[in-house]
Amino acid sequence: MRKKSSGDINKLTKLSLVSTVLIVVIVAIILIVAVFFKPNMKYETFETFSLGTYVQLRISTSVNPSVLSKEIFNELDRITKKFDAYSEDSIIYKINHSNDWVEVDDETFAILDLSLQYAKKTNFAFDPTLGRVIDLWGFSKFSEKEASSLVVPRKEDIEEALKLSGAKLVEIDYKKKAVKTNGVWFDLGGIVKGYALERAYQIAKQADPNCTGFIEAGGDIRILGPKFGKEYWIIGIRNPRGNDSIDYIYLKSGAVATSGDYERYFIVDGKRYHHLIDSKTGYPADSAISATVISDDAIKADVFSTAAFVLGKKNWIYTRTIIPKYDSEVFLVTPEFEYLKTDGFEYYEKTY
Ligand code: ADP
Ligand code: MG
Repeated sequence: MRKKSSGDINKLTKLSLVSTVLIVVIVAIILIVAVFFKPNMKYETFETFSLGTYVQLRISTSVNPSVLSKEIFNELDRITKKFDAYSEDSIIYKINHSNDWVEVDDETFAILDLSLQYAKKTNFAFDPTLGRVIDLWGFSKFSEKEASSLVVPRKEDIEEALKLSGAKLVEIDYKKKAVKTNGVWFDLGGIVKGYALERAYQIAKQADPNCTGFIEAGGDIRILGPKFGKEYWIIGIRNPRGNDSIDYIYLKSGAVATSGDYERYFIVDGKRYHHLIDSKTGYPADSAISATVISDDAIKADVFSTAAFVLGKKNWIYTRTIIPKYDSEVFLVTPEFEYLKTDGFEYYEKTY
């Protein structure tokens, strides 16, 4: 065996010195990358009561999350007050109770116009002009406590209320941005939640384009971005007759909304009367018990879930043909507890 010469030893020390330095440099680089480039993946949850329901914001953001949540919740409160048809200081109340043209601000005009467009697109299954019928049924100021005091309205009264419903009675002046309802009462309850969630999304993204998380209002969800920047949010679809989930969907973006007969209802002689009214009859729609819609935005999800519910099983062919044209997929539960799904729904039941 050859004895190690001092030159060899020098080489060895140099080599180990170089490798030590290299390791230190690599570790330092990793640390720097970890500290400066690691996205902020801590989630915080904020809750409030707004839009007539419980709202939850779950967000990960590089800006101050409590400041952002306050800004978002203030916006939800503003929208709730402004568009509540049955509160005397709302713009909708003013429009509904005026016998003349009412000039409105841009936002109000846009949402009224949008709601009427969706009414046409859904063959008036979604109908924002049912205020008088909804008020007659007692769902305009519904609280669970009072549900037991509600009664089925008289047939004649429903017919009278229906005569003063319908988009055909409403006049719109696009130049002046004015509306004349001619006796119709707008009720935007089927679109306001979606609009508010869409506003929440816009505010969050304006403050921090890279924020992720979701905002939920009474079962309607708007995704802000994938979990930890890359994973799916798993969303359970509630059993309309239980507290468990009947299905799970996986979303990284977009929105989902459910309309069900189990949220606002009362029971008389064993029959359930709920808040989703069929504009063709004036009575609660009776051909579905829940309708879930996945869409790329919260307004469409909200509107189409109400529409799909009202269209129900009897108009399923219409629903499965029309609603996917607007990049929206439907999962309907029929009164017999059958599951009907549009062709594209399956895509969201898996991860890829
Ligand atoms: P929820 O508000 O319980 O989530 P929806 O989003 O389906 O349920 O909205 C239901 C609300 O929409 C009702 O409370 C009422 O204000 C209004 N509404 C009821 N029937 C209709 C209808 N056929 N078209 C549009 N809006 C409706
Ligand atoms: Mg809805």
